Amino acid sequence: MQVQAYGAHAADKPLESLEITRRAPGAHDVQIDIAFCGICHSDLHQVRAEWAGTQYPCVPGHEIVGRVSAVGAHVTSHRVGDLVGVGCIVDSCQHCAECDEGLENYCDGMIGTYNAPTPDAPGWTQGGYAEKIVVHERYVLKVRHPEEQLAAVAPLLCAGITTYSPLRHWNAGPGKKVGVVGIGGLGHMGIKLAHAMGAHVVAFTTSDSKREAARQLGADEVVVSKNADEMAAHAKSFDFILNTVAAPHDLDALLVLLKRDGTMALVGAPATPHPSPNVFNLIMKRRSLAGSMIGGIPETQEMLDFCAEHGIVADIELVRADQINDAYERMLKGDVRYRFVIDNATLAG
Ligand SMILES: [Zn+2]
Ligand SMILES: [Zn+2]
Repeated sequence: MQVQAYGAHAADKPLESLEITRRAPGAHDVQIDIAFCGICHSDLHQVRAEWAGTQYPCVPGHEIVGRVSAVGAHVTSHRVGDLVGVGCIVDSCQHCAECDEGLENYCDGMIGTYNAPTPDAPGWTQGGYAEKIVVHERYVLKVRHPEEQLAAVAPLLCAGITTYSPLRHWNAGPGKKVGVVGIGGLGHMGIKLAHAMGAHVVAFTTSDSKREAARQLGADEVVVSKNADEMAAHAKSFDFILNTVAAPHDLDALLVLLKRDGTMALVGAPATPHPSPNVFNLIMKRRSLAGSMIGGIPETQEMLDFCAEHGIVADIELVRADQINDAYERMLKGDVRYRFVIDNATLAG
């Protein structure tokens, strides 16, 4: 089946309207009419070949929400008409230890929602900047938010789970002091989620102008990281720091804020490495420096249900398809509060 999409034909070309092919739903497939798709920073990296191996035409998008429009004969978990989401994963090996534990995100055979190998034409996956997508039922999530919130649910499928999973893994909750570094697409979700989990949340920003915004998102305190006195006041006090910043920066300035046995988890993927941390800052208080990548399918469902229960969605700016290239430029400048979401009804032009 041919569907309208938006994508790029080369790394140095803007995204434009194009047609792509979707497979007919197989026995275990769910066909989704995509209503909205979030714009993630990874989309821009892939489209511009800033990470290795981009295939063209590249149709990005892995923050997908919409309604089921067809199901295969053996599909039991979703029905036509259901509100559903698809995140960063559309397939995995389904038999390794990670898949068995519902940690498909760490499967060596994980297939990303775009730019990953597939038997489908054209040979690599194409993502959510499209009218429809066809996905194996295992990787389709249920959306239990009210329909009027659907556009703002889309970013939960990447930004939401990328922050939820480490917060859960390192036990953010009542009695815990949790830092969130960076107040962008990821960080704003991190603040909302950590607050809803009951942690004492401290937001770190380089920009004094984001103080009030961070408080509105749920931060109990806000630290401007350039201010040495403000930083020093929090020395050796954090149980956990969620670091969402993708640009290379001084990790030591944050590591020294962890108390004994504290952990800082990195979820931003820098194009060039961070300066190496001073190992003494790890040794001295048995601190850990860790990483985390999105989340598995069961935890992504848990995150969506947690967000529905607590009324949590992303703060978004809705754009038309013909505004995607401008949105990329604005995203590079940090000029979005906090996530762009595409209205896929505008793809057909
Ligand atoms: Zn993403
Ligand atoms: Zn696997």
